[in-house]
Amino acid sequence: MNKTITEFKNYVERFDTLRKVAATISFDNQIYAPKGGLATRSKRLSFLSLEIFEMITSDKMKALLDELFPIANTLDTVTAAMVREFKKAYNDSTKIPKELVKELSETQTNAFEAWQKAKTENNFKDFAPHLKKLIELRKKSISYRAEKGQNAYEILLDDFETGMNIETYDKLFNEYKEVAVPLLKKIQAKKQLETDYINKHINIEDQKKIVEFISTKLGYDLNRGLIEIAPHPFCMTIDKYDVRITTRYIEKDLFRSFYSTIHETGHALYEQNTADELLGTALNRGASMGMHESQSRFYENMIGRSEEFWDYILDELKTYLPEEFQDLTQRQFYEAANKVEASLIRVEADELTYGIHILIRYEIEKMIFTEDINVEDLPAIWNKKYEEYLGVTPPTDTEGILQDVHWAYGNFGYFPTYFLGSAYAAQFFAKFNQRNIKELIKKGDFKTITAWLTENFHKHGSVYEPKELVQNFIGEQLNVKYYADYLTEKFTEIYGL
Ligand code: ZN
Repeated sequence: MNKTITEFKNYVERFDTLRKVAATISFDNQIYAPKGGLATRSKRLSFLSLEIFEMITSDKMKALLDELFPIANTLDTVTAAMVREFKKAYNDSTKIPKELVKELSETQTNAFEAWQKAKTENNFKDFAPHLKKLIELRKKSISYRAEKGQNAYEILLDDFETGMNIETYDKLFNEYKEVAVPLLKKIQAKKQLETDYINKHINIEDQKKIVEFISTKLGYDLNRGLIEIAPHPFCMTIDKYDVRITTRYIEKDLFRSFYSTIHETGHALYEQNTADELLGTALNRGASMGMHESQSRFYENMIGRSEEFWDYILDELKTYLPEEFQDLTQRQFYEAANKVEASLIRVEADELTYGIHILIRYEIEKMIFTEDINVEDLPAIWNKKYEEYLGVTPPTDTEGILQDVHWAYGNFGYFPTYFLGSAYAAQFFAKFNQRNIKELIKKGDFKTITAWLTENFHKHGSVYEPKELVQNFIGEQLNVKYYADYLTEKFTEIYGL
């Protein structure tokens, strides 16, 4: 048996190495690589993707899993988790016919291009047939994995966050909606905060210094990372010794790069702090999308948008800020960082309304997969929901249904994990606050906070499934009440409700 275990581990390490090579090329492709090499680079990337896919679905993998899966409960925790992960990947990947995988992948590529064009030209009509085909193919591919009577959306939700389903999400979103929507209406009825003072010009070179200062202050190790520019910021992990983030600079909007960098720093810290023993096991990465987002939101919102954070950071930050900012107070920065505004664009949304943007997408995805809906009607449905929940109507589809890339990739069921992240972050914060996290933030002691998260959370990578990890970590399951209370308390104070 020991021989099989060694063989399995070596096989996984080879797989993991290939995946890291693909990730490096993909980052290169998005950030540095010359445009002229796109076609041949894409060939290399699809060659690697195919190799990776074949390793998961090979006869060798099957033989190894056939031996190890039945005895998984006798293996050590890490090896058992590796077996669990690859068994799931093997099952999911081998059930769908290869031709369908190919067709789906080609449809995605075309849909992405069509979406880019449609977004630029505000022309949903031209994107609609692609979206329709993607939905059909998704439903078809899921049907090979579904158990009798199981809805496709249930499986998609579980794909993006193990253990989640419609019933659980419905409950979470309803609880949130009952608090967030009335809270927003109350705020909208009050006098709005005047925060134009924050939108002063700061040149990009200074902003670069600021984001480097803030991300390293929070614990991001630049010796094992770097900060590049991307229109849609993201974090890319090669392994824990090479975790890269990107950000976006706008000259009259300091907070754009500031908060997007803190957000990505939260993702990066999770990855940089996985345990060394997980290298090469394919488990040296965050446990799930929702768990990952809980960390980015924790640093961005619970730390970065707190009053204590501004109390601590402003004096030091001012050394990087131009003259026009020098007279501003902590409270002014705090208010500007938390201004509530019902807006059209998800990625620009404030902390309170962000979840409403996700709620709308969740409700529409659910309709797509559980009702007989016409793709052509989706823009009208979208606009109606924005009017109902946020009180704003998109003047164009570019600012409406076409704004996000997710559906163009065929990624249905992804959005709700953003909501999970925010809700988990608030719950972790409440738990940690029993040990006075606010005091630590006020002192700038981010090391202690990160050490706590690392010990209970980061170092485990994806050894545990999300629900088990959370249970071990805070001794209970997700409860939206923490998030609702957090939002109510915070915004009641800021707006004097
Ligand atoms: Zn994120």
